[in-house]
Amino acid sequence: MEELSRLFRLAAEHGAGYRRSLPDRPVGVPVDQDALVEAFSGALPDGPTPPERVLAELLAAAAPGLVASAGPRYFGFVVGGALPAASAADILATGWDQMATNAVSSPAALAAEAVAGGWLKELLGIPASASVGFVTGCQAANTVGLAAARHQVLAEAGWDVERRGLPGAPPVRVLAGAERHGTIDRSLRLLGFGTDVLEPVPADHNGAIDLGSLWEKLRAGPLIVCLQAGNVNTGACDRLREACELVHRYGGWAHVDGAFGLWAAAAPATRHLVDGLELADSWACDGHKWLNLPYDSGFAFCARPEVHGAAMSYAAAYLVGSGGVPEGADLTAESSRRARGFAVWAGLRELGRDGVAALVERCCALARRFADGLGAAGFEVVNDVVLNQVLVGFGDDARTDRVVAAVQADGTCWVGGTTWRGRRLMRISVASATTTEADVDRSIAAIIRASV
Ligand SMILES: *Cc1c(COP(=O)(O)O)cnc(C)c1O
Repeated sequence: MEELSRLFRLAAEHGAGYRRSLPDRPVGVPVDQDALVEAFSGALPDGPTPPERVLAELLAAAAPGLVASAGPRYFGFVVGGALPAASAADILATGWDQMATNAVSSPAALAAEAVAGGWLKELLGIPASASVGFVTGCQAANTVGLAAARHQVLAEAGWDVERRGLPGAPPVRVLAGAERHGTIDRSLRLLGFGTDVLEPVPADHNGAIDLGSLWEKLRAGPLIVCLQAGNVNTGACDRLREACELVHRYGGWAHVDGAFGLWAAAAPATRHLVDGLELADSWACDGHKWLNLPYDSGFAFCARPEVHGAAMSYAAAYLVGSGGVPEGADLTAESSRRARGFAVWAGLRELGRDGVAALVERCCALARRFADGLGAAGFEVVNDVVLNQVLVGFGDDARTDRVVAAVQADGTCWVGGTTWRGRRLMRISVASATTTEADVDRSIAAIIRASV
């Protein structure tokens, strides 16, 4: 047991030391992936290795291949940092090693989920009566939301999809914005719809769904519409109030993929961007992006808990709604689950309502600072910077790719490249709780240096 304490202390101290080093280390150094694999490799040992040596070997092998994505100047993908209390709570989740399947397997884990779930709904403006499954990320949350949608639109057509599957089922139409996230397509594959079912709805100038085009495509019959809060390139949010009202007028199910954009609801300055979100039927959101929770953490909300449970429960569906309240693993695609609720509870407790709002507003202000600084330097900001995403062009595609690569190699900050509307662009995403104005200014200077 002495040894376990030593090991835990060592791991925690290394983790904390690594975090402390983040502001000063090169953000994304190029690595030789084969050499990294080599450092981890060796034949499967026949016998045991002392745990402290295992840890030492792991530390040595991993160090050169770590990316400072939890640091203040990582602007790739949509990656947030990890709040201190939330990170420590996640270490405890490991120490406690709870199986968060249900309240029998871990009463504490389910209690933390229950309270944190209520706080999440309050912050996001999702009805308090909605159910929430704690999942691995927004991919999983999209799958859960669309499974609930599949259940309901087919139940209304007289078809029990959980029992009978899709062969022979009434056809379901699935509409989604042309600029939906790729995880929507994968969720539809996993749910047996296939991607051919998707009818893309054209996007407006900034990548949100075009309402007129949506309306033209709507007809009665089993219908699922995937809406989006936070276009992964531009940050644009669909006009959820009008879109949900339209979808409901035709009896459809409105699902909102709001991996990061749903957090606009938590800040007074951005709340209008997701006005009407409460009208949707299901919502998918991430904790590990803008909320700065440690990986992995996502939330699948459903306006109708009984539908959520009927689609996902792995106890018999008939138990749900007849006294049994769906909880824990009845609301996700996992059976045994990590106790993610501790980190969610801790992160929300650490920030409080005002802290979440300040985090969202600060990131948006820093995104605008990027846009203003790079615009002033003569580069083209291509999107309307409505949220935390900035798209920048540096002339032709080849030059933009060269600038992105040079910025990445420089190591001051890390930005990604993307293709949007046929053009190669630099994509900057501000989502970390630790990013400051000074970090943005240093990064702008590095980007300008890389462009010459
Ligand atoms: C990141 C993202 C997803 C996928 O989320 P994961 O956490 O990676 O599973 C889905 N939709 C949008 C809009 C995203 O930005």
